[in-house]
Amino acid sequence: MGLDISTCQPANVSTYTLPLHTMSFFTAEDAPFIIAGPCSAETREQVLETAEALSKMQVKLFRSGVWKPRTRPGSFEGKGIEALEWLKDVKETYGLPTTIEVAEPAHIEQALKYGIDVLWVGARTTVNPFQVQRLADALKGVNIPLMVKNPVNPDVDLWQGAIERFERIGVTDIAAIHRGFSSYDTVSAYRNQPNWPIPIELKRRKPELFMICDPSHITGNRDKVAEVAQRAIDLGFSGLIIETHPRPDEALSDAAQQLTPDALQQLLSSLVLRRQYTGDMSKAMELEYLRQLMDGVDAEIIDLLARRMELSERMGAVKKISNMTAYQPDRWREMLASRSAQAGIKMLSEEFIMALYERIHEESIRKQLEILQAMNKEIEK
Ligand code: PEP
Ligand code: MN
Repeated sequence: MGLDISTCQPANVSTYTLPLHTMSFFTAEDAPFIIAGPCSAETREQVLETAEALSKMQVKLFRSGVWKPRTRPGSFEGKGIEALEWLKDVKETYGLPTTIEVAEPAHIEQALKYGIDVLWVGARTTVNPFQVQRLADALKGVNIPLMVKNPVNPDVDLWQGAIERFERIGVTDIAAIHRGFSSYDTVSAYRNQPNWPIPIELKRRKPELFMICDPSHITGNRDKVAEVAQRAIDLGFSGLIIETHPRPDEALSDAAQQLTPDALQQLLSSLVLRRQYTGDMSKAMELEYLRQLMDGVDAEIIDLLARRMELSERMGAVKKISNMTAYQPDRWREMLASRSAQAGIKMLSEEFIMALYERIHEESIRKQLEILQAMNKEIEK
């Protein structure tokens, strides 16, 4: 069963063609969509023991790495095809659909052959558009549900681009997995920085996208998985993927972050669920009222910003006539200190006000420079 890598098409692709999905595999009407299972399939016993426990919980999809992308050579790299047999047993014995990571067209071919239900693309693959395209080409005509993890670097375009490569070849059922972003910050509380604005921006750009959070790979630490899972739910994520192992300390990969099935059950029962829309009329009206007030405040903010920019332009003209620099370090220092003191009185965070004023000041300076340069041109004439 060879693969023609030159065209990146699995042989006999039509054998695996599935019916077109009209409905999504990913649903989260009453409860988050839970995916759980070990980081890696290690032995048949470990896989089946985990699946048995998870099949009694609200887990909708069994995850397991079969080919593992390891940072350094020499560590456990997965059991490959042998493990696909075990996953077939998971489905047959416990009725749990299964998902694995695919990083090569050959992985896709094997996954389809063994009846894997959902595929996922790992963070180390999403970074590489060539490889993503190879996977997309291998999926032509095969409409299987797919999950795309964020790239290791915090680049929302790259993440969106990977999803679009699959959409273009006709995959219709795609979810995004937020697994955090790599950094060299060794004192950070997390293994991969959550950088929440990035998945939020992706969802803004693609509102239909099903968003799943992977608190295991974000935290790298089983004691913190629950708090990040709750944060994801609070932010409106629809699903969670959580690594689970019967004896986490003995795991051959990601030992520190895996939970026992019991610990997972505890996490799931203590999750406080949120809804995007409230079913309570009076709460809906209250929210609507508050939104209207907020729209009014935002209109005032924009008005004030326009007035501020106008003042800044008039100051630009004065600076030009007096031959002064647009940027005045003493004044800027003074301004930052007084604005952050004022903000403190209003209980606003200093960090927020500093960041906001840096942006406003940058725009002021840009406008003033435009004025200075326009006048220079007139003088040249
Ligand atoms: C995994 O899910 O086990 C994995 C390798 O994840 P990531 O691609 O997020 O590092
Ligand atoms: Mn892992």
